[in-house]
Amino acid sequence: MLANMNDVLIDAQKNKYAVGLFNTIDTDALEAAISAAEELRSPIIIGTAEVLLPFAELQLIGPAMVNMAKNASVPVVVHYDHGLTFDRCMEALKLGFTSVMYDCSTDSYEDNIKRVKEMAEIAHSYGATIEGELGHVGDNEGSMEGDSHLEDPSKFYTDPMKAKEFVEKTGIDALAIAIGTAHGTYTCTPKLDIERLKQIRNTIDTPLVLHGGSGLPCEDLKNCIVNGIAKINIFTDMCVAGEKAIKECSGDYHAIRAAKVNAIKNVVMSKMKQFGSDGRY
Ligand SMILES: [Zn+2]
Repeated sequence: MLANMNDVLIDAQKNKYAVGLFNTIDTDALEAAISAAEELRSPIIIGTAEVLLPFAELQLIGPAMVNMAKNASVPVVVHYDHGLTFDRCMEALKLGFTSVMYDCSTDSYEDNIKRVKEMAEIAHSYGATIEGELGHVGDNEGSMEGDSHLEDPSKFYTDPMKAKEFVEKTGIDALAIAIGTAHGTYTCTPKLDIERLKQIRNTIDTPLVLHGGSGLPCEDLKNCIVNGIAKINIFTDMCVAGEKAIKECSGDYHAIRAAKVNAIKNVVMSKMKQFGSDGRY
C-alpha cells in the first residue's frame, strides 16, 4: 500500500529501527525491493534520484514504482531522492510520489530554508512528505549520485543548533544530516561523528536520515539507529550485487535477469534485517 514518510518513520524512530530507502532505477531493482519487503513484512521506501534519471526517465520508472507500491501488501513510500530542480520535484508529485527530497544543501543557508519551505508547502498540499538536507553529504570518487568530492567533509557536517532552526522554518518531515558518510563506494571505513548525531537528536524530534549507507559496517549502522537515525539510504550495494550476479551468470538473458533480481533482493533483505525493519508489518 502507498504510504508517506510519516506513516513509516515516526514508528521507526519511536521503536529504534530504521526504514531503508532503496533506489530502484529499473524494474528489476523495483521487483527485487518490493518482493524483499513483502517477504520480510517490512515497510520500505523506494526511490529514484534526479542524477539517476539518465538511466531511467522519471516518466518511465515513476508510474511503475507508484503502481507497485499501491499493490504491495506492506507500506511502501515512493520517494524522489535528491530532487535538485523545482520542476522535477513537481513532476514526481504529479506522478503520485508520496515523498520528495528537495536537496538545496549546496545553496546558502538562507536559500536552503527559502526553497525547501516553499516545496514543503507544495508537497504537503499533495499529502506528500518532504526531506531536506542541512550540511552536505559528499561523494566518494566514482559515485553515480554526484561529484561533490569533499577534501574535508567535517567542514560540511550538520550544525545541531541550525538543524533546529532549519526544521522549524521549513516545516520538513525528515532531515538528512552530514556526520561523516558519503555516497558511493568507500575506500576506507568512514569515522562517524556519533556525538553530533546525539546532539541533533536531542535538539529536534524530526526523523533523521543517513545518506551513504552502502558499505557501512553493521555495527556503525546499528550505532546510528540507536542514536536516532530512522531512515538509511542504500543504492551502491544494490548496484554492486546486481553487477556481480550478471558477470557471474553464464545462462541466457532470462537467467541473467533472474540472477540479478535475486542478488539485489538478497541485499535489500540483509539491510532490512540490519535496520530492524523486518517483521514490523
Ligand atoms: Zn543521498
